[in-house]
Amino acid sequence: MLPPGSTIGILGGGQLGRMLALAAAPLGYKVHVYAPDRESVAAEVAAHHTQAAWDDEPRLAAFAAACDAVTIEFENVPVDTVRFLSGHVAVRPGAAALEIAQDRLAEKRFVAGLGGRTAPFAAVPDRAALDAALADIGAPAILKTVRMGYDGKGQARLAAPADADAAWEAIGRHPAILEGFVTFAHEFSVILARGIDGETRFWDSPVNVHEGGILATSSLPPPRMILAQQDAARALMTGIADALDYVGVLTGEFFATDDGPVFNEMAPRVHNSGHWTIEGAAASQFANHIRAVAGLPLGDTGTLALPVTMRNLIGRAIEGVPALLADGAARVHHYGKTEVREGRKLGHATWVGTAPEGPL
Ligand code: AMP
Repeated sequence: MLPPGSTIGILGGGQLGRMLALAAAPLGYKVHVYAPDRESVAAEVAAHHTQAAWDDEPRLAAFAAACDAVTIEFENVPVDTVRFLSGHVAVRPGAAALEIAQDRLAEKRFVAGLGGRTAPFAAVPDRAALDAALADIGAPAILKTVRMGYDGKGQARLAAPADADAAWEAIGRHPAILEGFVTFAHEFSVILARGIDGETRFWDSPVNVHEGGILATSSLPPPRMILAQQDAARALMTGIADALDYVGVLTGEFFATDDGPVFNEMAPRVHNSGHWTIEGAAASQFANHIRAVAGLPLGDTGTLALPVTMRNLIGRAIEGVPALLADGAARVHHYGKTEVREGRKLGHATWVGTAPEGPL
């Protein structure tokens, strides 16, 4: 157990790191953010900041020496960086979880190996392999880059085999995975926290609605179909976390289908669909992640009141903050990012125990 006054290092400097730092403070911990970017909204609320490249070993060694434990807020931190740090300081979760989550093919194979249901998939290392994969899986299908895809980026949909050339160009001719198109009624996530002793707790699964490939809202209670599939999805996520001896918050994204839950992908970190837990649960995903990393007992994940709605403020939607602040029921989070760009997550608002007024 890390005593109060200890320093937790965070790899990555975005809003997830910012909310982790804000959750570390009431537990008596300091945060040290390590990120290459010039702007870091996490560093703005952290005690210490290192702005350096992911492969700068002298700076990484100094960072490790300054921290009592290290965690990640960004899943594309190079695995070599985590391996290097692991030689100096405890990194939770470790390199194994990161390595799998960074590679869509390895991730699907790993989860299928644990008995999880995924979309039918095939490896597409080059253009020729795409034709073979299409013959195998059929259309409609989705072509996704194996690495560095998020928020719907690095993906192309194929309505028919004739779309192969356009899809291959659209994803930049990178090594990819072809997935059969899953017909689903809803999307939901399973968010768990696993402590150093292996104790695992879950938050309630919200229904997640995406717009343009980006999460727009997470809401509770979810449709009955999700409630009926939550236990099966939790069992799979427990298997994944146990197999990785995972420490911290782990998220799985699922499709609710007529045949049960289909695993889509996992994130080895706190997740946007868990932001509602800041006000909506007894212990938030951020608080429990810090507790797990610090070796503390986990807090109660129970939902405080229904309904719960979390709405992302993306791009110019951030201009709605003054109006949201005037709505006494909305709990508003502005991430402090200076550049407003289309598709950029700039804040979110949460309603607990009451529904937002007007359309979502
Ligand atoms: P991802 O980056 O894998 O989370 O994909 C972004 C979004 O695309 C998902 O949230 C789904 O709405 C949709 N999607 C991804 N994969 C599939 C699939 N195999 N079948 C149907 N829809 C999908």
